[in-house]
Amino acid sequence: MSTTWQILTGNLAVVALVMSVWAHFYYRFRNLSALQSKVAFGLTMGLGAIASMLLSIPVNSGAFIDLRSSLIAISGLFGGPVAAIATMAVAGGFRIYSGGAGTINGITGILLIGAVGVAAHIIVQNRKIGIIDVVLLAAAVCVTLVGSTLVLLSSADGQTLTSIVAPALFLNSCAIIISGLVLLQFERIALERDLLTAALTQTSDYHYVKNSQSQFVIVNRNVAEHHHFSSPAEMIGLTDFQLATQRRAEILFAEEQELLRNGKPVIDKIEQLREGEQERCYSTSKFPLRDGKGEIIGLAGATRDITEQRRVERELTESRNLLSHAMAGMSDGFAMFGPDGTLLFCNEQYRCLFPLSAPARIPGANIKDILRKVAETEERRDLPKDVTDDWIDNAAAHLHQDKDEEIDLCDGRWLSLRTRLTTDGKALVVVSDITAMKQAEHSLRELAEQMKSLAETDALTGIVNRRAFDQAIVIELARSARNRTPLSLLLIDVDRFKAYNDTYGHVAGDECLKAVSDCLREVVKRRTDVVARFGGEEFVVLLPETDEGAAQALALKFLTGLRALEIPHAGSEFRYVTASVGVLTKQSSSSELVSAELIKRADDALYDAKRNGRNQISTWSAQKCDGRRQKGSSRSR
Ligand code: GH3
Ligand code: MG
Ligand code: MG
Repeated sequence: MSTTWQILTGNLAVVALVMSVWAHFYYRFRNLSALQSKVAFGLTMGLGAIASMLLSIPVNSGAFIDLRSSLIAISGLFGGPVAAIATMAVAGGFRIYSGGAGTINGITGILLIGAVGVAAHIIVQNRKIGIIDVVLLAAAVCVTLVGSTLVLLSSADGQTLTSIVAPALFLNSCAIIISGLVLLQFERIALERDLLTAALTQTSDYHYVKNSQSQFVIVNRNVAEHHHFSSPAEMIGLTDFQLATQRRAEILFAEEQELLRNGKPVIDKIEQLREGEQERCYSTSKFPLRDGKGEIIGLAGATRDITEQRRVERELTESRNLLSHAMAGMSDGFAMFGPDGTLLFCNEQYRCLFPLSAPARIPGANIKDILRKVAETEERRDLPKDVTDDWIDNAAAHLHQDKDEEIDLCDGRWLSLRTRLTTDGKALVVVSDITAMKQAEHSLRELAEQMKSLAETDALTGIVNRRAFDQAIVIELARSARNRTPLSLLLIDVDRFKAYNDTYGHVAGDECLKAVSDCLREVVKRRTDVVARFGGEEFVVLLPETDEGAAQALALKFLTGLRALEIPHAGSEFRYVTASVGVLTKQSSSSELVSAELIKRADDALYDAKRNGRNQISTWSAQKCDGRRQKGSSRSR
């Protein structure tokens, strides 16, 4: 009894040994195909079955009891038909080789158990094998063993059966469950290990683990490729002395030994290395690896090729510097606002151009805060008196628009603000001081006004000249026609002026003409009236909205005023300077006339005044349209 237990327990040890042998060799065979792997598993289980058979207990009729069934069933469940066939072939072969009376029964038992294992495999084929499956397999094997024992060993006595078969069933079940658990656990560990290995070997960058002698224990594919090895396995056991120059290997070795001694990691060490024609840049970090007791047993390294990253960083820095220099060097102010109105960037000139609100113009500030500061300090002249929050909200909302503005500041400067939107919703504002341009523009406008005035002014008398009069009469004629208002014209000619010049000289003549024009200006006071020098010693007065009577009254007032000046004129029959006036009135009802016709008629009237004895007014009338001169006239006495 105790011998049976001892032998079968020894069998259990054989099963455990077979499992650990498989676990060990599985990693060696990991590159095998699925079929090869199944065959290898089946053969291993078959060898285990042979070992178990060598420790079997013989019962009557040449039969043996051992734990071969557990290995055959496990082979079927985990390895499927291929593994089961391999196991059955090995175990069956050995059983035939052993021979004896129970050979047929033994072979039949092997085939039956193999079939049970394969059947279990087929049942769980589409899902992961679990511990329940293993237990059920053990039960099925037990049932099969009991059944076959009853049939095959029918001649055995009851005591023999209970004393041998009971431990055999129990230990076979134990062997199946233990083997199943070991295989399941082993599969889980294998998967984790595969994942970790894949994570380490298939990552980008360069990853490696070194032992305390700085030998590579594991490297990823990139490290192997970098050093021109076809597989990472080829690098195991190598050191930097076989891979780098002696000098560099010494440096790396010293650095790693230092790390292994003091446990201080190396973090982001930047190295510039020449590789053929190229300079490449690497960032390396190395960390100590400790065992369960905290002792340093090696190191893990990660190296990243940062050549491209460095180049992009360098280019970015360069372009940033370039931009900053350009911004700082430009005379204009420059600011960039984000889509939400936040000031993202501005140069110093931008802040200098707005000295009062400069404290608010800092990156991070919102346009609303800036506008509030502008309003507070009354920096801009164009802001309303009471700036409300609504006004600020509205102004801020208009920031993101393409526009050109000109604003004047309280210190007298003018600024031009050019706002342009970028495709990503930012607003770029360029601010230029246009004060000088504005001043020049103002001066130019003044100059133009002066020029215009000079071009229209008679230099001697200071009243408007013939050119300005010609423009004025066209305008007034049109207005008179449009508004149906009368328009009068006085054409004035100084009497005997040639004689005046001859008597008193040309300079005195000029003075006399000035006195005449002053006298006219005294009399003609309405803003809309135009007093002009017509040429030589002739003057013309344009009187809009003035009827004939009023025009005659004005003319008489002038003659009286001139006479009252008593400018001596020895060459005149009146002894003082006098003038003759031709009066023409275009009635509101009269048909349209051109200016030349109007002047011609006034000149006719003036001719009449001269002919009638000078120093008098003559009014043009329609009766004289046949060319004869009008008779009626008034004289200044
Ligand atoms: P009447 O009474 O018929 O008008 O005779 P008048 O001598 O005034 O007319 P006339 O056309 O013969 O002479 C005009 C003179 O006016 C001739 C010219 O020397 C003089 N005169 C024209 N323009 C000026 C001027 O700007 N200054 C001066 N001093 N004389 C001028
Ligand atoms: Mg004249
Ligand atoms: Mg004259």
